[in-house]
Amino acid sequence: MQENPKLQELKQEYSKCEKCPELCKSRTQVVFGSGDESADALFIGEAAGATEDEKGIPFCGASGQILQELLQSIGFTRDEVFITNTVLCRPDKNRNPKTDEIKNCSERLNKTIEYMNPKVIVTIGNFATKAVLGPEAKAGITKIRGQIFEKTIQNKIVQIIPIIHPANLLYNGRNPKIFEQMKLDFKAIQKATNTNRKNPQASLIDF
Ligand code: SF4
Repeated sequence: MQENPKLQELKQEYSKCEKCPELCKSRTQVVFGSGDESADALFIGEAAGATEDEKGIPFCGASGQILQELLQSIGFTRDEVFITNTVLCRPDKNRNPKTDEIKNCSERLNKTIEYMNPKVIVTIGNFATKAVLGPEAKAGITKIRGQIFEKTIQNKIVQIIPIIHPANLLYNGRNPKIFEQMKLDFKAIQKATNTNRKNPQASLIDF
């Protein structure tokens, strides 16, 4: 895992952020992100949940286990990608993040993208997909999941792949059909990441 000095500065800057009054009350800490800060692939979820808030690591609960299984299915460990959220702090009772909270945290998200300069951004669920894709996400995550979008961010073309949130699989009793669909979406990530890999010889993916 590589550290990214600019991302570390950003983490420090947001460690005591108080832009969202309600979230300041419901969080115990700001969950900035985890993984390789110079990774080719940046994963963006919705918001920290209870386990994430407690441990300070995104996707470390039940949804995180599914994400890990999906990453493993394409030959990645979670330490080889960077994982963050649309909104860094935990909303009370896991409610949806509010529009002004997403807006408050968007500058941090944009800076994360700028400083990481990833080749592929994977948006997990509707909130992250809307935050990154904007109007192109209008059709909803179930319609556009697994598709590859291209967007110019900071004068650079970045591939964006929306996926279903792993929590959906849990809500649906780990329905094997949904899991197989999610694995297919991860194949798209595998393909995009390999095509754009900064350091292809370091790839752990078996082709
Ligand atoms: S969600 Fe983001 S903007 Fe809002 S308080 Fe937490 S770190 Fe700050």
